[in-house]
Amino acid sequence: MCYTVEMTLRAFAPGRVEILGNHTDYNEGVVLSAALDLGTTAHGAMRDDQKIILRSEKTGEATANLPSLQPSGEWSDYPLGVVKMFLEAGVKIPGFEADFSSTLPVGAGLSSSAALEVATGALLMKLTGFSSTPMDLAKLCRRAENEFVGVNCGLLDQATSLFGEAEHAVFLDCRTEAIGTLPFPESAALVIVNSEVKHALTGGEYNERRDSCFEAARRLGIPALRDATFADLSRMELPDLIHRRAAHIIGENDRVFQAREALQAGDPATLGKLMTSSHASSRINFENSTPELDLLVKIATAIPGVWGARLTGGGFGGAIVALTEREYALQIGAEISRHYHARTGHQTIPLICRPGDGAWHANTLGI
Ligand code: ADP
Ligand code: MG
Repeated sequence: MCYTVEMTLRAFAPGRVEILGNHTDYNEGVVLSAALDLGTTAHGAMRDDQKIILRSEKTGEATANLPSLQPSGEWSDYPLGVVKMFLEAGVKIPGFEADFSSTLPVGAGLSSSAALEVATGALLMKLTGFSSTPMDLAKLCRRAENEFVGVNCGLLDQATSLFGEAEHAVFLDCRTEAIGTLPFPESAALVIVNSEVKHALTGGEYNERRDSCFEAARRLGIPALRDATFADLSRMELPDLIHRRAAHIIGENDRVFQAREALQAGDPATLGKLMTSSHASSRINFENSTPELDLLVKIATAIPGVWGARLTGGGFGGAIVALTEREYALQIGAEISRHYHARTGHQTIPLICRPGDGAWHANTLGI
């Protein structure tokens, strides 16, 4: 026998875009991001029969039985991983069901996975009355993705999905885990354009980049590349490849700090220039761009009203983000995708975004 408690509760968590700070997370560096005004909504209610029933309009229904939860390799691992972490934190869950709907593209580098996790976590807090700080919830969701789903993501995705704020960018220090928001220019918009080309990312490239960064820090005699400066780099005779990998991270951290000042000064033009420099460094130093991403950045930065553009996220495919004049963002997005289609044959639908509220603001999480 089972029944569902009548009361249905709702939670929302947004996706995120990395504005600057490429591959800085595992180098204990700094990142600038924004929560998007696109995300995942969960509607759910308690059950008392040890059953978990999950439905997504994108992927269908999945069921699981408490208390033992095992990963299945399916989409439901993301929410079930969060449930598992709640159980490990001592939260009593007698069963529940949840319906997910999302305005985010899935698998496009905008962290639909973190949105799904954080929406699940926020819903479970409401259903169970469990209280957590937003940072603890971000860490719990990250652990769900690392340990239950098996994806080695940093804290940026979940932290931005929680701490994001409408009209603001998010500044995260990955070493201290200090997080804050900065005003996003009133006159600007974010135009995100997917290259629609995924280069085989077997993990090999990603791990090679990590290893090169750790190797550079080791040779420089510092705990992490966060602690390196260009002056340190020029004093050392590093092999060219290690030198370039380190130069990317040092440059990215510098650019994030400069971007923080630009945002404090309400200066989108400087932020845009930093983004375009970031892309050049990805292309030349970190070699995590692709011909398609390079083309998109070239097309975007040639359009009036675009302050700058760069690849966003890990690279090796995925999307670019352009900082544009808000008034012309729609036309700019359409023009980028028209040119890109003419040159490559790939159809791509641009997303026009402004920073949106993270789950903490959107739901208040009862705290
Ligand atoms: P990204 O986080 O950039 O969108 P990921 O590969 O990290 O890409 O996560 C995408 C995966 O997350 C999907 O393959 C799916 O398993 C899951 N997912 C995300 N959002 C949803 C959703 N609304 N419904 C079902 N599954 C989802
Ligand atoms: Mg993800």
